[in-house]
Amino acid sequence: MPEKSNKDSPSTREPVDSLSLDKQFDRVEEVTIIELEELADALEFILDLQPHICEIRGSDYPCILCENKCSVGKCQEIKIMRGKGLKTINSSMLSLNFEKRDTFEEYVVSKLVRELTRQKLNLIEPEEGYDITFFFKQEDRWKKDEIIVFILGLFDKVKTLMPEAKAVVNTWIRNKVKAFEREETLKKMKE
Ligand SMILES: [Zn+2]
Repeated sequence: MPEKSNKDSPSTREPVDSLSLDKQFDRVEEVTIIELEELADALEFILDLQPHICEIRGSDYPCILCENKCSVGKCQEIKIMRGKGLKTINSSMLSLNFEKRDTFEEYVVSKLVRELTRQKLNLIEPEEGYDITFFFKQEDRWKKDEIIVFILGLFDKVKTLMPEAKAVVNTWIRNKVKAFEREETLKKMKE
């Protein structure tokens, strides 16, 4: 289907012009929506897979993992606001970055995202600079809609869980410090 893949190629698609947005008005909301729309598009593209015999490894080996990505399974790269993807005929990968404000969030977000996803999707070691890297095989196309909904929902889950994670850690620290200070006071009183 060369015609279709040509049409669907993100490089030929008109990019959403974020610069034309009114910067003074609702900028944050606008940007968030565009980002998700783009991610949905990216996922549609990256999950548009089909069976393909790997020329190097044979059978239905995922070409995204084979040495030269196969000449026939040639790679296509996509870029979105929060990530990037790589696609061959029978397999693909997508790396995503989540919003975080400090180093604590950086650590928790990457842990959280991977934990939320582990049971549901195939993960590989995250590419440098990204929180998570998904790995898709051609069989995943049957679950395409489910996968797209799940990945788009991850952003909300992280946003919801992050304040709770911070609160729990902060409370834990406060309580520990209080307990520690009480112990110190008791020790001094005994002396
Ligand atoms: Zn291959």
